[in-house]
Amino acid sequence: MMNERTLVLIKPETVQRGYIGEIITIFERAGLKIVAAKFLVATKKQLDGHFHGGDEWLRGIGRKTTEGCREDGLRVEDVMGTSDPLEIGRKIKEQLYHYLSSGPMMALVLEGIHAVKVVRKITGHTIPAKAETGTIRAMYSIASADLASVVGSPARNVIHASSSVDEAKIEIRHWFKDSEVIEWKKIDEDVLFTDGDYTKISDKKGN
Ligand code: ADP
Repeated sequence: MMNERTLVLIKPETVQRGYIGEIITIFERAGLKIVAAKFLVATKKQLDGHFHGGDEWLRGIGRKTTEGCREDGLRVEDVMGTSDPLEIGRKIKEQLYHYLSSGPMMALVLEGIHAVKVVRKITGHTIPAKAETGTIRAMYSIASADLASVVGSPARNVIHASSSVDEAKIEIRHWFKDSEVIEWKKIDEDVLFTDGDYTKISDKKGN
């Protein structure tokens, strides 16, 4: 669907560094609309719900990490202590819980045309050192996968953004009640998108 919603978490290190405003400005400037926002310290229960993918998701993280090590000329067993993708995924998950509950985060729901894909594009590669120039992860961090492994932490990569429309639906429902997501019309939508007829897109909301 064309007009979508997606979830962004401004991660603890970014809040600590005082960049909430700059990150929000980047998304607003691109034409995305904030439809929900909250400041929170994530509980274990909330993180359990966020990382809902089970063993398949853990294996995926493990495989991505193995691939990343190969690209960097490293042996994943030297970096993670094992080459089993599930075991690697479990270790990273444990580290992620520690990292993401280490201080307050800002959770946002952003709405806009192809919001999921557009926000991921603006966010950039999972590992900031590999992120494309101009993306948020490249502009606000130089963290690398080998650094992460040396300090025993996941890559601190500034923000989280939903990776697909289906994931966005689940994540928005997880972090926000329906009543906390506000339907509203932004003054620039007419000139940017619809020539004054917002109904052209409002009934095409994918989530
Ligand atoms: P993304 O956040 O880009 O969607 P994933 O969902 O695959 O990436 O991973 C979740 C989080 O785990 C990442 O945001 C990052 O903090 C951490 N992470 C993922 N892969 C690695 C890796 N190879 N090394 C260190 N940390 C990683």
